[in-house]
Formats: sequence, structure tokens, C-alpha cells
Amino acid sequence: MKVVLQNLTKKFPGRDRKKQEYVIAVNDFNFEIPDGKLIGLLGPSGCGKSTTLNLISGLLKPTSGRIFFGEDDVTDLPPENRGIGLVFQNYALYPHLTVKKNILFPLENLKGKDKLSKSEMLEKAYAAARLVQIEELMDRKPGELSGGQQQRVAIARALVKMPRVLLLDEPLSNLDARLRLQTREEIRRIQRETKITTIFVTHDQEEAMSISDMIVVMKAGIVQQIGRPQEVYDNPANLFVARFLGTPPINVFEGQVRNHKLYIGEDEVSGIRGVENQKVWVGIRPEGFVPDENGPLCCRLSGVEVMGRDISVVSTHESSCSPAVRSIISTENRVDTEKETVRFSLKPGKVFIFHRETEERIMGELI
Ligand code: ATP
Repeated sequence: MKVVLQNLTKKFPGRDRKKQEYVIAVNDFNFEIPDGKLIGLLGPSGCGKSTTLNLISGLLKPTSGRIFFGEDDVTDLPPENRGIGLVFQNYALYPHLTVKKNILFPLENLKGKDKLSKSEMLEKAYAAARLVQIEELMDRKPGELSGGQQQRVAIARALVKMPRVLLLDEPLSNLDARLRLQTREEIRRIQRETKITTIFVTHDQEEAMSISDMIVVMKAGIVQQIGRPQEVYDNPANLFVARFLGTPPINVFEGQVRNHKLYIGEDEVSGIRGVENQKVWVGIRPEGFVPDENGPLCCRLSGVEVMGRDISVVSTHESSCSPAVRSIISTENRVDTEKETVRFSLKPGKVFIFHRETEERIMGELI
């Protein structure tokens, strides 16, 4: 089921009602979520992720704009008539009911022509339990389950009616690091098996990048960029997106373009085509540095950490916007730890430049 958001806007009244101020939680969203895909809504706290999800679910009414599921305009439909499955961070299971009864619950409320017999309900409940691999836990109560198991029950409950759209709001936040990893793979598997269009909210870029077919990066209620995770990483539209994706994060420097040359401080780091003389931000991904005795960027070496597959070089540069410049290099490269400085050449595809004021990407060609 494809989901289309058309000029979708949600304003909340501000604290001081007399002033008639608003918080625009979702500002004119226009995008299409293709059928059968897993989409990650990604952004820092307060950027409007949950509000977007709640608008799609029908728990909130938009201030303006429309929402379509396929060709159906669902904007005015209540949540129960939209055919959605919802999973929250805190599981929201009924503590006094067994796992089986929790999963059966949405089916027991079906009325009229949708009403199912007891055996049909059980069949569906077990099918959902099998999908999330909790069949052996059906007679336990939520209090007798681990966090990861409880979240599986919540997912089974959301899937039991085979929703048209599955909505997950920070579903992994209450799990420890190892379980998060495992459960996110599970969500990906379940989504692939069921092919239900799934919208997944998270503030964790790694989580969104690892399982989404498409990510929507948001900031302060405004969509910043939409695309496949790798495309967005490789081609950030602005400094915010570049900074938000990637661990360690991108290194940002104060730079300048002068006469077709790109400078970081006094270091002339590259030739550049198609950019006028101006001050810029220069973003360099950690994997964009190559140790090179004759390289143009000279940093003061702070430390080298060997991490098995690769090496993390920590250094400083007076034009860096953060106290440490973090680069990741392969173990084939050597860095002389006795020296005070380290010189790098840069991989052009890993260097981005941004407008100093607007922070939008400037498309120049590094040569
Ligand atoms: P988080 O990751 O912290 O959950 P989020 O990206 O999901 O954040 P939202 O919960 O959608 O963000 O909130 C977006 C903005 O709307 C925030 O500025 C928030 O304070 C505001 N907001 C959300 N709900 C309300 C409300 N009921 N009344 C007023 N303002 C609200």
C-alpha cells in the first residue's frame, strides 16, 4: 500500500494562547512512500517524527493537507478504520492478559462481516506469533518476558490483522544495545516477509540507515532530504544532513574557495571547478583521509587507535569546527606516531562543501 502525504501540516498552539503563537511540528510535507517498502523517519528530538506518524495513524488530525493510502483519502478516517498496525516504544501490552490474549485482542473486537470464529482467530494469532518467533511464549504474561520478547509480542499484535500500513514509533529504544541490533534485523525480516509498507521512527541514524529502503531526514518540522540511505550519505543536501549521518561524524572545517582552489586554513587542499570565490564549510567524511607524507592537509597528531580492521587517527586542526578531527584509515596505511603532525591527501568523493550562511551544499567539482 503506497502512502502519500500531500501538503501535510500540523500546528500546535504555543504556551501563551493569547499571543496566538504556534509550534509547526510538521511543515508542508509532500512525499510518497512506495508500496511494500520500509521507510525510516529520522531526525533529532522534537523534529516532528512522532507527530508525522500520529498523523498517518489518525491519532492526530492535520491542520491542513491530505493523507492517502493508495487511492483512498484517509485524512478524515478514525485510526480504527485506516487498517494500520501501531507499535510504540513502551510496548503498551495488557499486563493482566497472556501473550496469546494480547495478540488475540484486536481480532476479538472485530464486528459485523469482519467477525471471526474462535478457530480463525487462533490461527491468525499463531501465524503472527510464528512470524515474530514467540510461539512458545503464548501462555506467559508480559511481566514474565524480556524487553525484546515484549516488543515481539507488540509487533505480533500489530500484525495480526494484516494491516495495510505498519507504524513503529522508536520500537527499539527500550532495548539494550545487543537486543536492539537483533530486533532491528528481525523487523527487517518480518517486513520483507509480509511486504507491508512500514514506517519506522527513530532518532538513531545508524538504526535507520541499516534497515530502511528509504530515509526521510527531518529538522524542526521540515523535510531536509529523502532517499536511499547510501545515496543520502554519499550526497547530503546540506550541512545538517551531512552531520546527522555517519559515525564517527563528518569533520567540518572553515574553508575558502579562492581562484579555483579550496583552502582549509592556509592549506590548499584541492583544486575546485565551478565555485566562485567565497568562504565555505568543508565537510570531510572520516574515511576520506589518506595518510600521505606529501598530502596537502596538515593536522597535529593527538593519537592513533588500532581497531582491528582499521585505524582511527585523532588529530587537531585550527580550522576544524570541533576539537578533534577523526579519520578512519585502513591498516595498510602507516602513521608515524612519533611525529607531531600527520599529513593527509583527501578522497574527492568524500569531501563536500557548503554555503557559509545557508549551509546548503555547493556542487563544485574537486580536481
Ligand atoms: P522525539 O524524538 O523527542 O520524540 P519527535 O521528532 O517525535 O521528537 P514530536 O513529538 O513530533 O517530535 O514534536 C514535534 C514538535 O511539536 C516539538 O517541538 C514538540 O514540542 C511539539 N509538540 C508535540 N506535541 C505537542 C502538543 N500536543 N502540543 C504542543 N506542542 C507539541
